[in-house]
Amino acid sequence: MYDYLIVGAGLFGATFAYEASKRGKSCLVVDKRTHIGGNVYTEEVEGINVHKYGAHIFHTNSKEIWDYVNQFVEFNRYTNSPVANYNGEIYNLPFNMNTFNKLWGVITPEQAKQKIEEQKKATEIEVPKNLEEQAISLVGTDIYQKLIKGYTEKQWGRPATELPEFIIKRLPVRFTYDNNYFNDKYQGIPVGGYTQIIEKMLEKSEVRLNEDFFTKRAELEKVAKKIVFTGMIDQYYEYRHGVLEYRSLLFENKLLRGVNNYQGNAVVNFTDSKTPYTRIIEHKHFEFGNQEDTIITKEFPTEWTKEDEPYYPVNDENNNEVFRQYKTLADKEENVIFGGRLATYKYYDMHQIIGSALKTVEKEFKI
Ligand code: FAD
Ligand code: UDP
Repeated sequence: MYDYLIVGAGLFGATFAYEASKRGKSCLVVDKRTHIGGNVYTEEVEGINVHKYGAHIFHTNSKEIWDYVNQFVEFNRYTNSPVANYNGEIYNLPFNMNTFNKLWGVITPEQAKQKIEEQKKATEIEVPKNLEEQAISLVGTDIYQKLIKGYTEKQWGRPATELPEFIIKRLPVRFTYDNNYFNDKYQGIPVGGYTQIIEKMLEKSEVRLNEDFFTKRAELEKVAKKIVFTGMIDQYYEYRHGVLEYRSLLFENKLLRGVNNYQGNAVVNFTDSKTPYTRIIEHKHFEFGNQEDTIITKEFPTEWTKEDEPYYPVNDENNNEVFRQYKTLADKEENVIFGGRLATYKYYDMHQIIGSALKTVEKEFKI
């Protein structure tokens, strides 16, 4: 008998397992994948740490969370500064004075603000009600057309007018010449990749891979006093209130022999609507690699079905309403804790996952 059965060896499950075993609790961690780490998993190929589930850049404003991850591994000084490729025109991201200058030739922040204000006025949006209106209110129609609409509609598979505005608020808009994608105080990539963090977190737990909770549910529900569940909450409740929708991704990896530097940046976004992928990642640049070869990954957004990996929750009103019904059931459980991106159906970044796992730990162990 274990104290905890943890379903999912991703960042949430691993953080919980680490904290519980530190307190002398026994944990069995099961994951249906063949490896630990969930979506933060990295794998070394030809000396390059490949982010197997897309670019992962750690960033946080919290000193506590930064110190927490740094206890497991050293972080480098990587600062995410993706560039956007719109039909061969290159723009800096996030939207900042470099972007505005290239687009309109403006020099000062005042000129840039004026340009955006003019474009916003022409559309007569007062209170933005969806992603399109929110984007235009923030940066005007030119940037919306060239850098947001195509990318967003590929990424989410639906018109920007049907998407919640919070998605676009993830990106900073800056009136300085600063290409740092994040506003957070702390940022970096673990030297040697993310997997070692998870390995250290799970050192004292028993881990079983290739094990789907749902194929052995009756047996697994009996092996521990409590369950920490980080899979899909609707599946846990056998979809009784309906299926929560996700967006999925296909990753196409290529090893390019003899190519030292393919695109000059770790992340290039393709913001036109015709290119079928949203980004190309060149992994070596996350760790300033100088290998002779390079590895690139094209990221293709796809429609999600129950057979695919659920990467992004689609937090529109319908799905949020379905989620609320599952949440009501979850709140009544005495011996099951739901956590992580899938069980809480939230578009959480890594620092937020660690933050919420530590909150769960505080509550569970009455710290
Ligand atoms: P997951 O990593 O999804 O882990 C859940 C685990 O549970 C998985 O391993 C899964 O196999 C397992 N599981 C599910 N169901 C079952 C079952 N029935 N039985 C057994 N096991 C099961 N965050 C950032 O901070 N910075 C970034 O740059 C960033 N980039 C991202 C890019 C992409 C493409 C994506 C998809 C996410 C990105 N994130 C980023 C978010 C980050 O990946 C998540 O915040 C984090 O990985 C979530 O951890 P988790 O443990 O909640 O979920
Ligand atoms: N986005 C965009 N153009 C870009 C990059 C992002 O329009 O070049 C929008 C898009 O809707 C995306 C959202 O901003 O889903 C959030 O972007 P982020 O880079 O945070 O996405 P993630 O890394 O989570 O996929």
